[in-house]
Amino acid sequence: MSETLFEQIIAREIPADIVYETDTTLAFRDINPRASTHVLVVPKTRYRNVAELAAADAGLLADVLNTAAKVAELEGVADKGYRVVFNTGEDAGQTVFHVHAHVLGGGPLGPEARG
Ligand code: 5GP
Repeated sequence: MSETLFEQIIAREIPADIVYETDTTLAFRDINPRASTHVLVVPKTRYRNVAELAAADAGLLADVLNTAAKVAELEGVADKGYRVVFNTGEDAGQTVFHVHAHVLGGGPLGPEARG
């Protein structure tokens, strides 16, 4: 079995509502959405957080952000606006240590839509 929850989703070992996929990234709906659009974007290669990803592979970080932008288009929130959040570490509330971008949108975003 894969090590983290998101590796299990990438490997299709557990189900997820997948909205978009590229060679290097996967986008799927958050199981506990905090906005009407709440999609997680992960690189298929595991890094623990966005700082590790940025230091190790800037091209893959760009892939994650381009997938986030594509998801915003597909969800119809690109024009009105959306939020991209990388929770990093304990104080930020990071619970899954496979870097992921929260893409949040679909109406005015208050502080509860923090990913
Ligand atoms: P973090 O708190 O690490 O920034 O974000 C982890 C996110 O993963 C949370 O928003 C949580 O709702 C989501 N999550 C936890 N378990 C699952 C799951 O089994 N499937 C999906 N699709 N999302 C999950």
